Amino acid sequence: MGQRAALYCRVSAADQSRIRQERDLTAFATRAGYKVIGVFKETGSDAKLGDPRPMLKPEASFRGFSKGKGVRSRTDSAPARRWDYIVVGAGAAGCVVAGRLSQTMPDVRTALVEAGSVRLGLTTKIPGTAFIASTSPRRNWNFVTEPVPALNGRKLHWFQGRILGGSGSINGMLYLRGHSLEYDQWAQLGCHGWSFERVLPYFKKAETNTRGANEWHGDSGPITVKPSRVDLPICEAFLAAAGEAGFPVVDDLNADVAEGFGRFDTNIANGRRASTAVAYVQPARGRGNLELLPGTIAARIVIEGSRACGVETVRDGVRETIWAEREIILCGGAVNSPQLLMLSGIGPADHLARLDIPVVIDAAEVGRNLQNHPSYALRFACSQPVTAYKYMNPRAALGIGLRYAVSRGGSLGESYVATGGFMRSDPALAVSDTIVVMAPALITRGGVEWRLADLFPERHGFTVMVGSGRPLSRGRILLRSSDPSAHPRIFPEYFSEPEDLRALARSVRRMRDMMRGPSIRDLIEVELTPGPIANEQAAIEEDVRARAATFFHPSGTCHGRRSDCRRRSAVACYWDKGAARCRRLDHASGAECLHPRANDHDRREGRHDDRRGLVTRRLGRPRPPMRADVRTKALFASRVKLIARRNRVIEWTLRSVTDC
Ligand SMILES: Cc1cc2nc3c(=O)[nH]c(=O)nc-3n(C[C@H](O)[C@H](O)[C@H](O)COP(=O)(O)OP(=O)(O)OC[C@H]3O[C@@H](n4cnc5c(N)ncnc54)[C@H](O)[C@@H]3O)c2cc1C
Repeated sequence: MGQRAALYCRVSAADQSRIRQERDLTAFATRAGYKVIGVFKETGSDAKLGDPRPMLKPEASFRGFSKGKGVRSRTDSAPARRWDYIVVGAGAAGCVVAGRLSQTMPDVRTALVEAGSVRLGLTTKIPGTAFIASTSPRRNWNFVTEPVPALNGRKLHWFQGRILGGSGSINGMLYLRGHSLEYDQWAQLGCHGWSFERVLPYFKKAETNTRGANEWHGDSGPITVKPSRVDLPICEAFLAAAGEAGFPVVDDLNADVAEGFGRFDTNIANGRRASTAVAYVQPARGRGNLELLPGTIAARIVIEGSRACGVETVRDGVRETIWAEREIILCGGAVNSPQLLMLSGIGPADHLARLDIPVVIDAAEVGRNLQNHPSYALRFACSQPVTAYKYMNPRAALGIGLRYAVSRGGSLGESYVATGGFMRSDPALAVSDTIVVMAPALITRGGVEWRLADLFPERHGFTVMVGSGRPLSRGRILLRSSDPSAHPRIFPEYFSEPEDLRALARSVRRMRDMMRGPSIRDLIEVELTPGPIANEQAAIEEDVRARAATFFHPSGTCHGRRSDCRRRSAVACYWDKGAARCRRLDHASGAECLHPRANDHDRREGRHDDRRGLVTRRLGRPRPPMRADVRTKALFASRVKLIARRNRVIEWTLRSVTDC
């Protein structure tokens, strides 16, 4: 390798085999030891690439846009491809937005741009095999973070879905909302319309809960929600132990529970994953007003004057600009959306300048405020056959396979996580700040040396993941390079606020105590992790530093200022994470996007607002109000920070109102 090659191919009329030809040529050159950096193109007057692909420029063109990456650029002289709306990212949020647009605005044409494939595959569909899907490199961005100082310099794997449905097609399917106080805090911070009272109707609208309609749930929405029915004895023992430890054991964890344990609700319908891809996009595909563009990476938002009007995409190494008549809606997730904004010149000016990216909007906020839920896994080996390991023999596996084939029931029709809940790290807290997820098998999570085989248990046992639900620490996303195919740099900065580590360690200690309850202790043969260390704060904190990983719930990286918004623009650019829109960046999450203790996938219901054209809101990531009963110095300090931020929001709002 090392020699550079430029390939040449002639494109003739209706030459559908051209791409194959190019691939063959590229493969040939690569095999011959060349590094392909670009392809010369030539088209005759009759040259045509079957619609809707763009035609090439009449003259030969060559531009290798990413040094040595083998990606080709092409100038488009054919009629440009235009839609009313372009949604970037067919993930959990993007599918809702695109599906609702298609459903409620039949005359409007929408393009849904997705970097991954639309082929979902069995492991994403069959709930019991979702743990395989979540690690599949083909469906995953496979991010690796920068070293985390407070985790002894360890790097972590961050899974994020790269497939139709996004992370929602590879996740654990848990349906967990935040607490009402967490949403109310949003409203208090100036995010009008985002109090619990206002968002609850959208939660209800989105779901068909198998419990039926009640105060908390709806029964006619597109997303099916059902309580887990995993019937392994270890799940019952776990809940019994929670009761013995004094925690409420509840029927419905989404009924505004401040603290408690129970069976999780899951997004599963008829034994299949009920993702937003299935619920919103599949029905839309028959309508003809939604076009999916799979395998297409959005490389840059095209901003002309003060308007975001198109998206530069790369597909099969070919660049193309597609255009939006109305709006571009970013739904690429908490890592990719800030990356795309920065590649488009919207981000911290000094950082962009270092990478020679022309600055369109100096927005220091882009990429900042990264929040995620760090987690720590307690692992227990069991002395009796009470866990999912009992399926690990050929006869049992055949049995559950047959049962699923016949009835779509049994353990393959359930999520691999069944029970858990919320607990307080400090009894003084108004609302619990810790998420607990129990998996009825011994699993290994986190670390850059992740292997699929790690997911399969080798003996009976179970895992209890204890995670910070409302961390105070904030990380950031930075570009690695101006190449859109390069992963951005992720700085999670877990535990940069020491109180986060202290709180998580306290919760771990409480959980270890809970595992000594009469209902479960006899089933536990030995505690594997953390093992024989004292249940003392210092020792646990040290072990958390050594082993903590993450739940995969990043958020908060696209907040910004209202003054950045191009208010008069017909085409507005929306931020995805936390719901702030480019033309109203003070809105909601904008400056104050805070992460709730809940999982993330539930807050996706689109919302249509005729008055402002399209308003599609991601329900977001609040944190409950800091109350007087939160006494520690660190929490007090964080309250001061919050007030300072709120003042900044007010200032931004005033300034932008004056600007306009
Ligand atoms: C392994 C795992 C387990 C999880 N378990 C749960 C759970 O049990 N319950 C829960 O509620 N939450 C869970 N989550 C979190 C939840 O799935 C995510 O928070 C949620 O899916 C985020 O939605 P999103 O739309 O912001 O991003 P995503 O769903 O990640 O979607 C982003 C989409 O945009 C695409 N994209 C990104 N950049 C570009 C680009 N430049 N061009 C084109 N396309 C692009 C991506 O390929 C992806 O499809 C889990 C996540 C993971 C990874």
